[in-house]
Amino acid sequence: MEHSVSARENLERVRAAIAAAETESGRKSSAVRLVAVSKTKPAEEITPVIAAGQRVFGENRVQEAQSKWPELKAATDGIELHLIGPLQSNKTADAVALFDVIQTVDREKIAREIAKEITKQGKHPRLYVQVNTGSEPQKAGIEPDEAAAFITLCRTELGLTIDGLMCIPPVDENPGPHFALLAKIARENGIDTLSMGMSDDFETAIAFGATEVRVGSAIFGAR
Ligand SMILES: *Cc1c(COP(=O)(O)O)cnc(C)c1O
Repeated sequence: MEHSVSARENLERVRAAIAAAETESGRKSSAVRLVAVSKTKPAEEITPVIAAGQRVFGENRVQEAQSKWPELKAATDGIELHLIGPLQSNKTADAVALFDVIQTVDREKIAREIAKEITKQGKHPRLYVQVNTGSEPQKAGIEPDEAAAFITLCRTELGLTIDGLMCIPPVDENPGPHFALLAKIARENGIDTLSMGMSDDFETAIAFGATEVRVGSAIFGAR
C-alpha cells in the first residue's frame, strides 16, 4: 500500500503549493480549486485520495470513468466528476449522465448533442469550452479566433450555459502566453472559471488567473 501513503502525501504537497502560489500571485486564499486527475488509475488508488478529503476528480475517457466512478460516487457524498478528454458524439448521453462538469465542449456538433441530452435527461452538467490556444492541428479545442462566436452560438442558439474555459498549452512552449490568451477570451465573454495548469505548470497558471488546476501525476505518480 506504499502508493496510497504517497498519494496522500503528494496531495498535501500539491495543496500546499497551490496555497503558496495563491499568496504569491496576490490571489485570494482558496481561489483555486484542485481537480485531481485520476485517469488510468484504479479505484484502489483513488480511494485513499478521497479519504484524504479530495472531492473533485477529472477523467479523460468516458468508458474508463463509467467503469470506476458510479461505485466511488455512491460511496461518498459530494464527489464532483469532470470530463477533461475529448468527447465523441456517440458517448454524449453517457457523459451527460455521469459527469458533473464537461470541460471539453469544442464544436457545434457536440454542443448540439449535449443540448439534446440535457433536455432528454433533465440533467445539467456544467459546461466549459476547450480552446486550442496553440492552434495545434492534432489537439482538440475551438480555435481562439472562433471562440467568441462558438460561445455565443452555445448560449443563444442552443440555450447552453457556458461556465468556463479550458486549455492545454503545447508541451514544448512557455505556457504563460497561452494562459493569458485563455484569460483574455474569458474576460471578453463574461466567463469566470478558468481551467488551466497541470502538474508541471499549475503555479504559472495560478499567476495567470486559473480558478481550477488539473493535476494528475503530481498526486497519483507517473502513468
Ligand atoms: C492528463 C491530463 C491532466 C493531468 O496531467 P498531469 O501532467 O499528470 O498533471 C490535465 N489535463 C488534461 C486535459 C489531461 O488529459
